[in-house]
Amino acid sequence: MATNRTFTMIKPDATQENHIGGILSMIEEGGFRIVSLKKVLLTPERAGQFYEVHKERPFYGDLVKYMSSGPIVAAILEKDNAVADFRTLIGATNPAQAAEGTIRKKYAKSIEANAVHGSDSDENAQIEGNFFFTADEQF
Ligand code: GDP
Repeated sequence: MATNRTFTMIKPDATQENHIGGILSMIEEGGFRIVSLKKVLLTPERAGQFYEVHKERPFYGDLVKYMSSGPIVAAILEKDNAVADFRTLIGATNPAQAAEGTIRKKYAKSIEANAVHGSDSDENAQIEGNFFFTADEQF
């Protein structure tokens, strides 16, 4: 079911360099409404659970270590066509290939420390949002 919602995390590189406000501004200026928002320090176990789908990929161990290396900001966002439009706003995974005007172009440091996460489907947006927020936190 299409929900017009997506899920994002501001990753540890960006929170540690004080880019939370800058990134949230780009998100709001991009037409997204912030439905839910919290700052969390993930344990390696919890980060591993979140990225379970990438378990077989060679960078899984590094990714889990990185995502638990400092606080992240988790958010559910709302907009028409939220998943696709948010992927456009964040830009390519590798910031070297990210388009001008995207969040990753402005804030990402590397293919791993790439400032933000964005869900890749409506189904995953729902799963990921529910990973961080209870129903009464999604309004
Ligand atoms: P995304 O959907 O654009 O976030 O990209 P993927 O789903 O392919 O990868 C998930 C996350 O894993 C990325 O956002 C990066 O933080 C990290 N990642 C992706 N590719 C690599 C890689 O080649 N090396 C490392 N170290 N991390 C990667």
